[in-house]
Amino acid sequence: MFDTDQNLMKDKILIVEDEEAIRDMLGYALMKEGFECEEAADVEQARTTIESEKPNLVLLDWMLPGMSGIDYARRLRSMPETRDLPIIMLTAKGAEEDKVRALDTGADDYITKPFSTKELVARVRAVLRRYSGNSDSGVIEVEGLLFNPETYRVSADGQDIDISPTEFKLLHFFIGHPERVYSRSQLLDQVWGENVYVEERTVDVHIRRLRKTLEPFGFDKFIQTVRSVGYRFSTR
Ligand code: CA
Repeated sequence: MFDTDQNLMKDKILIVEDEEAIRDMLGYALMKEGFECEEAADVEQARTTIESEKPNLVLLDWMLPGMSGIDYARRLRSMPETRDLPIIMLTAKGAEEDKVRALDTGADDYITKPFSTKELVARVRAVLRRYSGNSDSGVIEVEGLLFNPETYRVSADGQDIDISPTEFKLLHFFIGHPERVYSRSQLLDQVWGENVYVEERTVDVHIRRLRKTLEPFGFDKFIQTVRSVGYRFSTR
């Protein structure tokens, strides 16, 4: 086999899941897509594997024996050496509130069981892309929507979009955190800043304006309402 160069570029995924059958299924699906995989049945194994194998991303099951996945995610985020390690939570819980809780601990994304391996691979790739994109110029392209934080420009298929500063900031935040649901108060903290007094209704107003700005180009569909929770930026 002359695939040494390819191996060097392979992303390594650590699967933390106590159910062997699921772990094997995930490992198989990811390896078929060209990822390298490591497996751990609990938090203790995960800890030693992260140290020795330095994975690029962790798939972390919510329900684990001993320390739960959500507590472990919080711990990973609190330690300097794993603070920037991408985490995708696997959860059997379907409620949006639980998903928000998962993301509040610092997970980058979540997948609800049962899920298709196609969806899993897509999400793994999206999270890895987000991390690798963080280090360059910051220009983000989403299906023809081009966002340039340095020139303060947004364009659609080459055509400049006239956007106000607040809508720009809101879009900037969304586009950097795709697929996650944010409550109005979370958006206020992230986009307006924690010490600014703005009513939550203001968020709705600016969401409406942002949608209107993007509508002529068909990109308003990316700004999605999640009933009784908040909003998210999604291309699905
Ligand atoms: Ca489990």
